[in-house]
Amino acid sequence: MDLHFNQNLAIGYHSGSQISRVITEDWVARNMFCPVCGAPVLGHYEANKPVADFFCDDCQSDFELKSRKSKNATIEHKIADGAYATMIERITSLRNPHLFVMTYADWKVNNLLMIPNYFFVPDIIEKRKPLAETNRRAGWVGCYIEIGDIPESGKIFIIRNSRQEDKSRVVDQYQRSLSLRKAEIGSRGWLMDVLKCLERIPDDNFRLDEVYAFADELQLKHPDNNHIHDKIRQQLQFLRDKGFVQFISPGKYCKIR
Ligand SMILES: [Zn+2]
Repeated sequence: MDLHFNQNLAIGYHSGSQISRVITEDWVARNMFCPVCGAPVLGHYEANKPVADFFCDDCQSDFELKSRKSKNATIEHKIADGAYATMIERITSLRNPHLFVMTYADWKVNNLLMIPNYFFVPDIIEKRKPLAETNRRAGWVGCYIEIGDIPESGKIFIIRNSRQEDKSRVVDQYQRSLSLRKAEIGSRGWLMDVLKCLERIPDDNFRLDEVYAFADELQLKHPDNNHIHDKIRQQLQFLRDKGFVQFISPGKYCKIR
């Protein structure tokens, strides 16, 4: 994989966002394999297709590309996306494409990661302020995606700090994450919440009461649920069944990476 963009493509464009779109989409079209099934190339949708930018002919997956020029090595930022209401509707019905997030600087890719669509929950979508009356699209409400709020198991790196990850590792990681796919938005939300809590426990070995320590926080997010502890144990059982957590002894667990 050559991490450099084709700079010639920028000739004739004046707007930074147009240049960014042209050079990053060209790079993906020339270099990117399908992280879902490992097919060697992705197809590029015609410009201005509203839903996705790339597709895999072999497994029928769709991908959207969001990129950002940034010297910063980290990718823990929020990125602007389309209309808020459409985004919420799509993620709720799992009709959103998988997301590629790219950061680049000096005409080359620094980071590229893929976030499977089943890691999207309304919590990570932030509503933007409506566009001002002076704007051509006055009143339109866009959204941000909070990349930092997505659990680590949902961030599949293809390039990290200018280094390419092994392709088979990328596909394996996707396949592993696939076992966490929940179609129903409420249970997907609970799973993401508990995954994020586990990530905040620094040690791989942890006790049930360390997870219960997040109960007040979870109660605020789920005010109508009166069985927070039961819900936590239910998610831990699910994660055990899917091979992400091991039960050591009553009340004692271990994360499996
Ligand atoms: Zn594929």
